[in-house]
Amino acid sequence: MSEAALVLFSGGQDSTTCLAWALDRYERVETIGFNYGQRHSIEMECRQDVLAAIRTQFPNWAARLGSDLVVDVPTLGTISETSLTREAEFRMQADGLPNSFVPGRNLVFLTFAAAVAYRRDIKRIVTGVCETDYSGYPDCRDDTMKAMQVALSLGLERRLVIETPLMWVDKLRTWELAESLGGPTLVELVRTRTHSCYLGDRSHEHDWGYGCGACPACELRRAGWMAYRPQTKAR
Ligand code: ZN
Repeated sequence: MSEAALVLFSGGQDSTTCLAWALDRYERVETIGFNYGQRHSIEMECRQDVLAAIRTQFPNWAARLGSDLVVDVPTLGTISETSLTREAEFRMQADGLPNSFVPGRNLVFLTFAAAVAYRRDIKRIVTGVCETDYSGYPDCRDDTMKAMQVALSLGLERRLVIETPLMWVDKLRTWELAESLGGPTLVELVRTRTHSCYLGDRSHEHDWGYGCGACPACELRRAGWMAYRPQTKAR
């Protein structure tokens, strides 16, 4: 088994930091992303932009960065009826979960990633899920990841390891991790090129990056940046 990793890469702050984390550790790093009927295609554009920027700005990492695969899973968007996949206001549901929750999303993603990893002889799958800045998504929990690791390893009859470098890290530490991995260049890359906003807003630039500034993802991103760079004024 080679020292290779497959990174679930969405073009957001967390998965970009995880990609850098993997590039710092493993000889070969591949990426996988998913089209699942997101309301906005901006995520998919950002991920290509981030990959291109890494290739040009980090030559050592570029040599390790392998192929990128985008898997179409439109059925997930069709059946999920969430605010991420249709025009609807973000709100909390009666069960306490935000209506941006796409049921089973990470489970589906990990299953596809495991199938790809199996074919490519990759043992490690890296994902940016996080229980600390817990958005209420049960498929981001540490227990869920451990259960998936066991289920996929058994189901494929091959030892797979799901690595979650951000599981116990808040957004402040995520920025600090990016800085420790790639210095100010990576921080700036993450700030300007990654996307978090649920509304797909790339027209408003803030100190913490682009976004509407009001949705839960923007609020979380801004709060993390302000903790990381308290001297900068939020706009
Ligand atoms: Zn937003």
